[in-house]
Amino acid sequence: MIWSCGFNGRRLMSSFNMYSTGRASRAVTVSSKRKFMSGAISRQSMERKRKAWSFRRAPGSGQLAKSGGEAGGFIPTTMPNAPAELNRNGVICTTISQLMTNSDIIDMLELTARLMELHDGDPFRIRAFSSAAFSLEKTTLDLAEQPVAELTKLPGVGKAVAGKIREFADTGHLAELDELLAQTPPGVLDMFRIKGLGVKKIKTLWQELGLETLRDLRQAAETGRVAAIKGFGEKAQQNILESILFLESQSGKVRMDKADRLAQLLCDELAPLGRVEVSGQVLRRAIEVDTVELLVESDDPIGVQDAINARPNFTQNRAASSPFAWRGEVAGFDVQVSVLTYPAGQFDQQRFIRSATEAHLMQKGATGKTLLQTATMASANATDEQIYASAGLPYIVPEMRENGQAFAWASQHQPDELVTWDDLTGTLHNHSTWSDGKHTLRQMADYARELGLTYFGIADHSQTASYAGGLSPERVAQQHVEIDALNAEYAAAGLDFRILKGIESDILGDGSLDYTDDVLASFDYVVASVHQTLNMTKEKATARLLKAIENPYTSILGHPTGRLLLAREGYPLDFPVIIDACAANNVIIEINASPYRLDIDWHWIDYAMQRGVMLSINPDAHEMRGLLDMHYGIYAARKGGLTKAMTFNAQPLVEVLKRFNE
Ligand SMILES: [Zn+2]
Ligand SMILES: [Zn+2]
Repeated sequence: MIWSCGFNGRRLMSSFNMYSTGRASRAVTVSSKRKFMSGAISRQSMERKRKAWSFRRAPGSGQLAKSGGEAGGFIPTTMPNAPAELNRNGVICTTISQLMTNSDIIDMLELTARLMELHDGDPFRIRAFSSAAFSLEKTTLDLAEQPVAELTKLPGVGKAVAGKIREFADTGHLAELDELLAQTPPGVLDMFRIKGLGVKKIKTLWQELGLETLRDLRQAAETGRVAAIKGFGEKAQQNILESILFLESQSGKVRMDKADRLAQLLCDELAPLGRVEVSGQVLRRAIEVDTVELLVESDDPIGVQDAINARPNFTQNRAASSPFAWRGEVAGFDVQVSVLTYPAGQFDQQRFIRSATEAHLMQKGATGKTLLQTATMASANATDEQIYASAGLPYIVPEMRENGQAFAWASQHQPDELVTWDDLTGTLHNHSTWSDGKHTLRQMADYARELGLTYFGIADHSQTASYAGGLSPERVAQQHVEIDALNAEYAAAGLDFRILKGIESDILGDGSLDYTDDVLASFDYVVASVHQTLNMTKEKATARLLKAIENPYTSILGHPTGRLLLAREGYPLDFPVIIDACAANNVIIEINASPYRLDIDWHWIDYAMQRGVMLSINPDAHEMRGLLDMHYGIYAARKGGLTKAMTFNAQPLVEVLKRFNE
C-alpha cells in the first residue's frame, strides 16, 4: 500500500503552499514514501481515474450524479481518482491513498527553489524552478503522465526542470531536493510557515542568530533580539511572534478534508479486522481535527493492536495507549490517531457515546437521566434514534452532537430539514480562466451541469485584484458576450441550464466596491469580498464590511473573515452587527465551502437563520473539481443547523433571480 502525500493537492492560490498547509518538514516523509511510486503505478492511476468517473455517473443516465447523496456519507471530493468502493460505514475505501498530483509537483519545485536560495544556489536555476512552479499552476494537464518532450512545451518549463519533474514522478524522489533537505534543520523549514518571512530573512535568523527551531525563534522575539537585527524592527518582530503563537496553537491539527482522507485510509486498512466505524471529530465534521478516531468491533483487542503495529507507517504511542485503545500517529499526518476496540455487546453503545462531546452527552431528557446515563444502560445493538428516544430527547444528527445547543435547534426543526448535497440547485462563487481559474467558463459550467445543477454563477475577480487576473470593465463586457453565447447554446439544445453573470468584487479599503455603478449594474449579482489589507482592528473591519453590505449592488458577502484554517486567523468582526446589517440590506452570507476557509464559521449559522439571513454554499472553485468542495460546505452547514429553506443555492433558479432583482 502506498501512503498518502504529506500535503494536500489542491490549493487556493499560488502563494498558499505546503508551508502554510502542513509541516514543511513533512517533505522528507513524502520523499521517502514516494520511492514506492513506480511508473507502473502511475499508469494504474489513469485506470483508477477512469473508474472514478464511471462511479460518479448515475446508472444509465449518462449524467454525472451528485454521488453520495446521503448527507451523512463520506465523499472523496478532493480525490476523484479514488476507486469507488463503499464500506459498511458508507466510507469510500481506497487501495492507493493518493497519487501524485500536479500540486505535489509544483510544491516540489517551489520547495527546491526556496531551499536552493537558502543554501546560496545558482540564481539562474532558482528562477527556473520558481517560474516553472508559477506557470504550472495554470495547467490542466496531468503532469505526472507527461514525457519530457511534452513537459518542455509548457510555458516556463525548460529541459532541466522537465527532467526533474520526470525524476520526481517516476521515482517519488528528487535527489537534489533530498540533499537540500538533509542540509536544512526541520525547524528552519518550519520558519517558512511564518507569515511575511521570506527566504532571506530566514537565512539571517538561522545563520546570524543561530536559530534552528520555532521555539528558539519565539524566545529570540520575546527578548527583543529579532527587532535588533538589521532589516527586521519592532513591527516585524511582533508579526513573527503572533504568527508563531498562532502556529503553535494549531499544531497537531489537520483540516476536515485531510482528516476525512485519513479516516478513509484507516477504514480500508482496518477493514480486515472486523466492523470498523469512524467516530469522534471526523464523524461530527469538525472543521479542524486533532484526533482521528475509529472503532473496531472485536473480542481480541491485543490481536487488533498487533495487527496495527505490524503495518508500516503506524507508530504507536505506548504511553497513551491501553489494552483497548491503540493511540499513535500515521506517517504523513500531523494528527493523533485512536483505534478503540470493543466487543460486539458494547460496540453500538460505545459507537454512540464516542460520537458526541461530553457537553452533548450531559443533556438531560424527560426521564431526568442524561443522554450518557441512558446510553450506558442501552441494550446492545441499540440505534442512535432509540437512545435519544429513551432519554426523552429529540434525535440529533452526528454533525450537531457538539454541545447542548443542538437541542434548542431541535425544538424548532426536524433533522430532515437540514440541507443536503442533493438539495443544491446551483453554484454562485466560481472562477474561470477569465481571472485566476484553471478551466474555461464553458468547462466550468458544463461540469456544474454534469453534476446535476441547473445554474452556474461565474464570479471572477474584479479589477483591483490584478494579481489574480481581475477583470477590467472591458473584459467584463467581453465575458458577458461569451455568457450570452453559451446561454443561447444551452437554450438551443433544449437544456435547462443557465450561466449567471456575477463578479467577486473586491471590497476596497474604504468599503466601496471595485467598479462604477454602471458596471456593477451589468451583473446579475455581486459577491463582495475582502482580499487585501487583512490586518484590521475589529472596528475597522466591521465598518469596512458594513459599507460593502449597505452598497445596493452587493448580493452576497463572500468569505466574511478572510480566515485560512490552520494558516491564517481571520480579521476580527462584530458578527451580530454584520449579520443584522445583512438582514436589513437583503444580503446573503456565503459559507465558503473550500476546506481551507469554511467561512462564515458554522457557529454563526443559527443566528443568521434567526435573523432571516439566507446562506449560500459557495465552492469558490478555481477548477472543475473545486465544485465538489460544496460537500465540505454542506458538512459545515449541517453542523450549524442550516436548513434547505434557508440555503440560497438550494432554491430554484426563478427564486434566485427574483431575489437578485429585488
Ligand atoms: Zn475571494
Ligand atoms: Zn473567489
